[in-house]
Amino acid sequence: MPQDDRLVMTGLRKEDEDLDASLRPRHLREYIGQEKVKSSLQIYISAALKRHDALDHILLYGPPGLGKTTLACIVAAEMGQNIRVTSGPAIERPGDLASILTNLNQGDILFIDEIHRLSRAVEEVLYPAMEDYALDIMIGKGPTARSMRLDLPKFTLVGATTRAGRLSAPLRDRFGIVFRLEMYTPEELSRIVGRSASILGMPYDEGGIMEIARRSRGTPRIANRLLKRVRDFAQVRADGRITAEVARDSLNMQDVDVLGLDRIDRAVLTAMIDKFSGGPVGLDTLAAVTGEDAVTIEDVYEPYLMQLGFIMRTPRGRVCTPLAYQHLGRIPPADLQAVTEAAEQTSLLDGDDL
Ligand code: ADP
Repeated sequence: MPQDDRLVMTGLRKEDEDLDASLRPRHLREYIGQEKVKSSLQIYISAALKRHDALDHILLYGPPGLGKTTLACIVAAEMGQNIRVTSGPAIERPGDLASILTNLNQGDILFIDEIHRLSRAVEEVLYPAMEDYALDIMIGKGPTARSMRLDLPKFTLVGATTRAGRLSAPLRDRFGIVFRLEMYTPEELSRIVGRSASILGMPYDEGGIMEIARRSRGTPRIANRLLKRVRDFAQVRADGRITAEVARDSLNMQDVDVLGLDRIDRAVLTAMIDKFSGGPVGLDTLAAVTGEDAVTIEDVYEPYLMQLGFIMRTPRGRVCTPLAYQHLGRIPPADLQAVTEAAEQTSLLDGDDL
């Protein structure tokens, strides 16, 4: 199944765009969860406002759909400034970035999504801009070429990436504030789903929104998307109210199981169990057997499967834990406990932490 067809994929789908605009919280107080990030941010924002100064550059990292773009827009709103939104792949040449930078106003927020995808040449332009609010441009060519420095307004760069480990060290070091966004708990997600249902005028029970929350893989974007699907089902098959039963039937029908796993997650786990006795199995091998690419497995499936404690990373590859066997209704082999305990001790770093 291609990524785009998956109901539980974390990335942005076409159907999310209208939802995103209407459901995105606009202020910090409406932003649910991520308490540590919010309280630090509140302090930085208040201090910057008091000093009448721009905020330090901020790096946000964490899996897609957790609210990085939303947070960047909130920072701009709380600072009372404008935001310019772009992304790493959209800035192809140094000149593209130069034109964005020279069009910024004092205090503006520049949001660059997927910032790890900036080319080396573009990054070089960003360094003096972040550090000295300056743009170095070359005039002329060959031996007569000389460099000229242009002053830029003091702006705040908010960079977002799915994995901080992918960022070059010089770029990472230029961010004064770094936040890692965590997956949301089912309780937090049920508050997000409740808020969205209220905005969209959908009647619901607590049990209904909790059922959606539990199947949303810790991700608000998925929660909002599942809510929309459940609403359609509720309107056609029931009286329009989102109850636990309606949510359950609707999501079961769409092959999203009680923990939010779909066919592909189960295929990954089943391949590990049936073909490799639970592992360890290398990422590339896993990609080859499941027909998915390695990056997608690492960025999309793994974070949630690891969060559930279903798989672990070891120096020799991934291993399935007894919990994964249980979820699939299988009996874990007797020696699995020893393998996972050993894995726990030698567990590799995510490559994600700073
Ligand atoms: P990212 O940039 O990390 O991929 P987004 O900021 O686009 O994620 O968030 C996806 C959607 O999830 C947003 O449209 C918003 O409606 C919702 N959302 C994200 N975080 C929160 C939150 N903390 N509280 C409420 N809704 C949220």
